[in-house]
Amino acid sequence: MPQRKQTADAPDVVVIGGGPAGSTAATLIAQAGYRVELYERERFPRFRIGESLMPETYWTFQRLGMLPKLYKSHFVKKYSVQFFSPNGKGSTPFYFWDNKPHDCSQTWQVVRSEFDKMMLDNAREHGAVVHEGVRVMDVLFDGAVLEKARAVGVKIKTANGSLREVRSKVVVDASGQNGLLMNRLRLRVWDPVLNKGAIWTYWKGAYRDTGRDEGATLVLQTPKERGWFWYIPLPEDVVGVGVVAPFDYLFKGRPKYAQTYEEEMETCPAAKERVSRAKRVTGYFATKDFSYRSKKVSGDGWVLVGDAFGFLDPLYSSGVLLALKSGELAADAIVEGLRTGDTSAAQLGKWGPEFSRGMDRMRRLLCEYYSGFNIGNFVRKFPHLQSPITDLLVGHLFSDHVDQIWEPMESMRHSGEPPIPPWDANLAADEAGRMPSATLPRGWKP
Ligand code: FAD
Repeated sequence: MPQRKQTADAPDVVVIGGGPAGSTAATLIAQAGYRVELYERERFPRFRIGESLMPETYWTFQRLGMLPKLYKSHFVKKYSVQFFSPNGKGSTPFYFWDNKPHDCSQTWQVVRSEFDKMMLDNAREHGAVVHEGVRVMDVLFDGAVLEKARAVGVKIKTANGSLREVRSKVVVDASGQNGLLMNRLRLRVWDPVLNKGAIWTYWKGAYRDTGRDEGATLVLQTPKERGWFWYIPLPEDVVGVGVVAPFDYLFKGRPKYAQTYEEEMETCPAAKERVSRAKRVTGYFATKDFSYRSKKVSGDGWVLVGDAFGFLDPLYSSGVLLALKSGELAADAIVEGLRTGDTSAAQLGKWGPEFSRGMDRMRRLLCEYYSGFNIGNFVRKFPHLQSPITDLLVGHLFSDHVDQIWEPMESMRHSGEPPIPPWDANLAADEAGRMPSATLPRGWKP
């Protein structure tokens, strides 16, 4: 155990945000014996979208001590994912267990309010000091030039409204899409391709498959604009059903969310049929669903994790996996840095390049889908590649063995189709301090 040299008022690490990324980082740093204070502006349980997990979350859950809790929970067990074309024809389900017969091939469809609370409580149990209802207003920097300055703590607004400074050796920004530091340091780069919107609601009594198919995530393509519905079975006979499509198409000049949702469902018989005898049990939710990534993962004394570093379109349900993985990798780098007395940008962000390569793999699969790639046809044409593509679908993003699928995938593209621009193609425009108009939905101001 490391010696605690700091006073009770001065934690080694401050974590901003108690979502999956923040609670993962806090748990693992506290597990290593360092003093962690986590500030979460809301009080849990609080609503979050992002219910379908990927099997590769297993390994981080194992380190966090979360597996026994998940096995005891009422969350729906997920064994596969299946894709449907606009005419309702389903691909063969991608069964994770058939690809890798191991406990890690079963994962869960979670209720995020409950899951996030379990994760946050788990961080407390491992020694992290968690404050709910406390907002981080700013990160404190020591140095004249902000971009090169060292983070030395945060300014918080406590539940009673008073402002206070908390000093620490490292600040972990896990503030989700808010991206506290990403905004402050102007690091966010909007994806040039993945700029969608989503509308969703929850149904009770909707159709459910049986046996090992009961908890499957279904991706049901709509005929227009390569939109798609997610169909996620949840506990207590509830199913989350949401539509994703280009932002402009979904929100500009369209009626209220409810009507748009219903109009989209009319175009997708596979979704409509499944909810035809169900009762809607909530209102409609809607969100802008633009992918983005930060130009940097770390600076001296600070590091970004989860959505506060980057967000990818939810088609393959990769968000929580990326939150857990980045939380874990950042925690390891921080613990090593605290042990050796090195909390430089290079040490805190040493995992960044490899992690970004993993995000690139998932992004490429997403962009291929939106430019016409059909996963069912792909596996029919290249049956020997079923395994590496399933590996990607379970979240095996950080190994180059999955890269064997790209060339065959490329061969299925129509000739003359432009190549997929990289995630940072907009960097030049963003450097100039504006979001490129090509990416902006009509009439939408950044
Ligand atoms: P969050 O879960 O957003 O947590 C951030 C926390 O920080 C919040 O609790 C917030 O209150 C707190 N916070 C913010 N600012 C401050 C502040 N200043 N001070 C203190 N606290 C602060 N992912 C999946 O894995 N599966 C899915 O099926 C899936 N579906 C999705 C569908 C849609 C439409 C969208 C938009 C996303 C989906 N995601 C999905 C992505 C997933 O929701 C996120 O990737 C995931 O929640 C990221 O976790 P996080 O911990 O980084 O951020």
